[in-house]
Amino acid sequence: MLHGRSGCRSLTASREGRGGSLRPPGTVVSSGGPGAASRESVRVVPFARNPRPSSYAAVADASPVPYWLDDPSRPDPLDAFAGTASTDLLVVGGGFSGLWTALLAKEADPSRDVLLVEGSRIGWAASGRNGGFCESSITHGLDNGLARWPDEIDTLVRLGHENLEGLEATLARYGIDCSFERTGTLAIATDPHHVDDLQGYPELVAQHGEKAEVLDREQTRQYVVSPIALASLHVPEGSALVNPARLAWGLRDACLSLGVRIHEHTRATDFGVSSGAGVTITTESDAGKARSLPVGSPWPPTLSRRCSSDSRCTWSPCTTTSS
Ligand SMILES: Cc1cc2nc3c(=O)[nH]c(=O)nc-3n(C[C@H](O)[C@H](O)[C@H](O)COP(=O)(O)OP(=O)(O)OC[C@H]3O[C@@H](n4cnc5c(N)ncnc54)[C@H](O)[C@@H]3O)c2cc1C
Repeated sequence: MLHGRSGCRSLTASREGRGGSLRPPGTVVSSGGPGAASRESVRVVPFARNPRPSSYAAVADASPVPYWLDDPSRPDPLDAFAGTASTDLLVVGGGFSGLWTALLAKEADPSRDVLLVEGSRIGWAASGRNGGFCESSITHGLDNGLARWPDEIDTLVRLGHENLEGLEATLARYGIDCSFERTGTLAIATDPHHVDDLQGYPELVAQHGEKAEVLDREQTRQYVVSPIALASLHVPEGSALVNPARLAWGLRDACLSLGVRIHEHTRATDFGVSSGAGVTITTESDAGKARSLPVGSPWPPTLSRRCSSDSRCTWSPCTTTSS
């Protein structure tokens, strides 16, 4: 990761693990994890099971607060939910999923009452502590998309670009300052055989309307001054860097400006169907009623069991539902 706090450098290295986009085989240094060792052409650097005392000492004065959240502009918490309430749309979870859901719902119908409950703080979870890589790919990379959905890949590529453009337009519409910067990506080859692996990528991505170019050692080192960089794949379009916590807080403010009711420190503990009232949600403090219930969070087991027949986990924290 090559980004700074208040801004982003011009290029990003390829993302770690399976989620990267257009990642040429062999260029990723993984920190391990389930299945990593069996993934061909991924160089695995396993976690140390018993870190040395010197390793602990090296991080002894590190802040335990996630980098992006350790920000003086973090807004004060909003009041917890108290009493009972009815609403047209109840959103559970104040990460990106919940906040975008609430925002789009309110934009689509300003008269709709929208209530969002967040168990902790807005953006405190994955949304406020991720890498800040914002990519158009909605298939975790073209190669993964091609492997899984070869017949629909061009539609998925197009939708991904529209999605990123829509995201950027929302930032402009609400004046959300989250250091969004279209940067492109740079996937670095560090072994000679990686350099060979890169060669077919520009042609492959061109077949699907994307651009990429292979940079040699000298061209690469204009971007990354590293003695181990032998070459790279430069993908100039379709990605950005963002300060994710500020994005979440900006979405919070946009929601509030449209009249979305948001309560932090309000954890939903159960829900049920009540006759005439649609869905009834129970929180730790009290109950609310909603006509529909989008899920904007990785649900705790008690809640997700109740949804299991209607939901499918597709990849990481990404869920599709039948309703
Ligand atoms: C370390 C890391 C790095 C990542 N890097 C990237 C990256 O670089 N680029 C990228 O695109 N993606 C990245 N991701 C993935 C991305 O961050 C997530 O896909 C995204 O933030 C998920 O948003 P979400 O709203 O679904 O979930 P979350 O952000 O986790 O939000 C869910 C919210 O729901 C709340 N909640 C849960 N249960 C309840 C309940 N019962 N009642 C009320 N509230 C509840 C939680 O408190 C939480 O605030 C990364 C993820 C991680 C963990």
